[in-house]
Amino acid sequence: MEIFHIAAECYPVAKVGGLGDVVGSLPKYQNKAGHLVRVVIPQYETKFIIENQFDTVFSGVVQLGNFNFPFTIKKESTAILEFELYVVQIPELFDRKDVYGYEDDIERFVAFQMATLDWISSRNNVPDIIHCHDHHTGLIPFMMQYAAKYEKLRTVSTVITIHNAIYQGQFGFDKLYYLPEFDLSKVTVLEWDNRINSLATAIKCASVVTTVSPNFLNEINNFGYGLESLFNMVRHKSKGILNGIDTQVWNPEKDKMVVANYTMRTVDKGKQANKEQLCSQFNLDPTKPLFSFIGRLLEEKGADLLSHAAALALSENYKEINILILGSGNTEIENQLSHLLASFQGNYNVFIGYDEELAHLIYAGSDFLLMPSRVEPCGLNQMYAFRYGTIPIVRRTGGLKDTVIDIGDNGNGICHDQASIVDVCYSIRRAVDLYKDKKSFKNVRKIGMNMDHSWERVCQEYIDLYNLTTN
Ligand code: ADP
Repeated sequence: MEIFHIAAECYPVAKVGGLGDVVGSLPKYQNKAGHLVRVVIPQYETKFIIENQFDTVFSGVVQLGNFNFPFTIKKESTAILEFELYVVQIPELFDRKDVYGYEDDIERFVAFQMATLDWISSRNNVPDIIHCHDHHTGLIPFMMQYAAKYEKLRTVSTVITIHNAIYQGQFGFDKLYYLPEFDLSKVTVLEWDNRINSLATAIKCASVVTTVSPNFLNEINNFGYGLESLFNMVRHKSKGILNGIDTQVWNPEKDKMVVANYTMRTVDKGKQANKEQLCSQFNLDPTKPLFSFIGRLLEEKGADLLSHAAALALSENYKEINILILGSGNTEIENQLSHLLASFQGNYNVFIGYDEELAHLIYAGSDFLLMPSRVEPCGLNQMYAFRYGTIPIVRRTGGLKDTVIDIGDNGNGICHDQASIVDVCYSIRRAVDLYKDKKSFKNVRKIGMNMDHSWERVCQEYIDLYNLTTN
């Protein structure tokens, strides 16, 4: 099959979170399985891959009403990636440091979607599947179906994968004129709650809707961020497919970003060496259990609970545990976490920022990984934790519920039901008890390390879905 993945992120070129990891790995494994897979993302001002490694394949001008944006589509040509990567260069809109967070994000991603379709529809062959990810690409199935310009793509099957349902790409009908000419009798297809809603439009128009875990699909039928009735309506064409992980990038045996590599057999020694490195770097105590958090510092991740839970746990178990936080996001949460530094020196530290290498070292050197998420459509961190022999402590929600089973049920982690300070602290206490019982601790760690979350296993589920829609 010829498959196009269209998204805002793709590791290692542009990554903010799990979307980047998935779009940088699923295509690779689909490619290995014998399909022709192409990924299209915007080109940001990014440090990962440099300009002269690209060949131009197409250029044009996107028109958003009276505004014209020249664009160029380039193919990455170093062959370091195991799939074809195309970047859409629209300098005026994307030559910026960050992926998201600009006032004109709507203009940026509408232009990106149109430039991508201009190119795909100009090619001789039409692909079998156009696989869109999140709201940034949510208008593509609509435009393919109803815009005269893209008529050639009308019969191509489309998939929308929802990695995050909170962000929906909404904008007012005053910007309707940005879209290419389309059958106006279909204008209501764009609407949800009196606005144009990119995600809702994709859910209505795509041949198939997928979420990144089965449990998240169940949850959004009841709590769907305003889209629950729509999710219920499209249940017949929806499927929850648990994300896989790239076991080549996330491999403690070969990972170049950690100080000591290890296997299941050498896990004690290997993890201890990584922990000692982390502890010397962050002034922590390597003889005590290390609890870490990696992620966006937002309420959806339960990050607002961390400073309170850390203060309570560190006061209760002072000098019994270490806590290390890596992340960035909400300034108030960042400040709260930084304020704790003065009170718990030697047992607590925080790194505000994004650091891919440090994340690998933390997965490798920690004993426990905290994930008190309020919302977690899939969660990749717990799967990376398993692979590196780190025991996840999670709130039972979304994909965490699909992947983590509590030690009370002979499982692979520690689970709590509420996103609350008390629940997090209670789980830390249970973890300290587990850590002291070395035999049980090692056994739980082993269960996690033995799990198979590889894409090799999972990617066939997407291929089966594609086959259903193309037949
Ligand atoms: P989400 O996509 O909601 O942010 P996921 O668990 O699906 O959450 O994926 C998070 C990904 O982003 C993981 O690869 C994680 O290691 C990475 N990550 C998040 N924050 C940081 C950070 N500050 N530094 C390095 N990596 C980070």
